[in-house]
Amino acid sequence: MSSSVALRLPSIDGLLRHPACAPLAERYGRDSLLTGLRQLLDELRPGVLNGQLSAVEIGAEVLAGRVGERLAQQQRSQVRRVFNLTGTVLHTNLGRALLPDEAIEAVQMAARYPLNLEFDLASGKRGDRDDLIEGLIRELTGAEAVTVVNNNAAAVLLTLNSLGARKEGIISRGELIEIGGAFRIPDIMARAGVRLHEVGTTNRTHARDYEAAIGPRSGLIMRVHASNYSIEGFTARVPTAELAALTHAHGLPLLEDLGSGSLLDLTRWGLPAEPTVRQALLDGADIVTFSGDKLLGGPQAGLIVGRKELIAKIKKNPLKRALRVDKLTLAALEAVLGLYRDPDRLAERLPSLRLLTRPQADICAQASRLQPLLAEILGSVWQVSAVEALGMIGSGSQPVARLPSAALCCRPQVSKRWRGRYLLNLEAALRALPIPVLGRIDDDALWLDLRQLDDEPAWLAQLPQLQVDR
Ligand SMILES: *Cc1c(COP(=O)(O)O)cnc(C)c1O
Repeated sequence: MSSSVALRLPSIDGLLRHPACAPLAERYGRDSLLTGLRQLLDELRPGVLNGQLSAVEIGAEVLAGRVGERLAQQQRSQVRRVFNLTGTVLHTNLGRALLPDEAIEAVQMAARYPLNLEFDLASGKRGDRDDLIEGLIRELTGAEAVTVVNNNAAAVLLTLNSLGARKEGIISRGELIEIGGAFRIPDIMARAGVRLHEVGTTNRTHARDYEAAIGPRSGLIMRVHASNYSIEGFTARVPTAELAALTHAHGLPLLEDLGSGSLLDLTRWGLPAEPTVRQALLDGADIVTFSGDKLLGGPQAGLIVGRKELIAKIKKNPLKRALRVDKLTLAALEAVLGLYRDPDRLAERLPSLRLLTRPQADICAQASRLQPLLAEILGSVWQVSAVEALGMIGSGSQPVARLPSAALCCRPQVSKRWRGRYLLNLEAALRALPIPVLGRIDDDALWLDLRQLDDEPAWLAQLPQLQVDR
């Protein structure tokens, strides 16, 4: 406004030839640089025309710097590592189970080289990808056969569609659950082409309820693990063995969706009891479905195990082709299942189990060690204390069970009306770190549950970059 000589933006060609831009072309490619420069100049043009920008602000060095920042930002991966200090171990939004080294190596091998995914090396003929883990699954669960799909939701959909399409699926009203991410049993049944026949009540369902529902249109009886909620008090549920006897007496299959489905009795490690796949099969379930990345501690997958002729029917369904798992998943799954052959060392080798069973004393000691360091960084506005806390398994396993843990509890020492804003700011500052740190806000404090803080050096190294109200 003050100058009488109108400013002009540098030309694209001039900028491209400028020494400040040369390293950017080298690093990000000429096309990306060109696009970035064009966008920036388009954005600046109005400011130049109405005289709001100074000559310095549109100098070649400044523009190169700004484009360089944008290109760096663009190039940064959107898939990012985070610290899960939420207290929920198998956190669906944070990728659930962490894979053991054995599985990571298997994934690398499968990614890097051709492999016998559907090729039988013994006969030289075409093979079936499910065969790669069938032996292990039979050994670990007692099942006759297995087929693997993308996740447990897919496993349930595929099984229902294969065994019950155009027929009725009988299920207790207490098991018509919804799981996070819009997985609702009635909707899945409808999509699978199975007519829902609900029996009993929310809290009590008896054998006679199932019995009365069985008729010429029945296709299967389904049982679903309540997963993320619990019914307590005046309740009744038919034991699987009894339900299986009844189901089989009428020539129907019993399908059990275990959700997490553990391969071993977790009480051995002091964790709450979860039904095992082997027990469900022993009790008479004909097909059992469960997730690969919940308590099993493996990659995302849905396992369908059970009677041979039913699995064969499921595998023939064209939907199986649409829902099948890829080679990386299978490689990881085989490696994880292999670790279950040695239960004595499982808690050392399987990260999810190691984290779930980490002793509280150990976590408390870590909290005490880190408390002064975080307190120092946060300054006097924050009271940081090392306290006992309660975490969760997550992913719908044992919704009421709590894992005794320890946390760094950060309370802003400001008047009540400012507290919420301070907490949200701290939460955002932690998220803005190079490796975002995720905790939880509760009771006017921000809690960082340390059960899953494995990589303490990396966590500490970035703390000085925390930008927080002091
Ligand atoms: C978690 C769960 C599912 C869905 O499994 P995904 O592997 O997340 O698709 C289905 N049924 C039950 C009972 C569950 O707990």
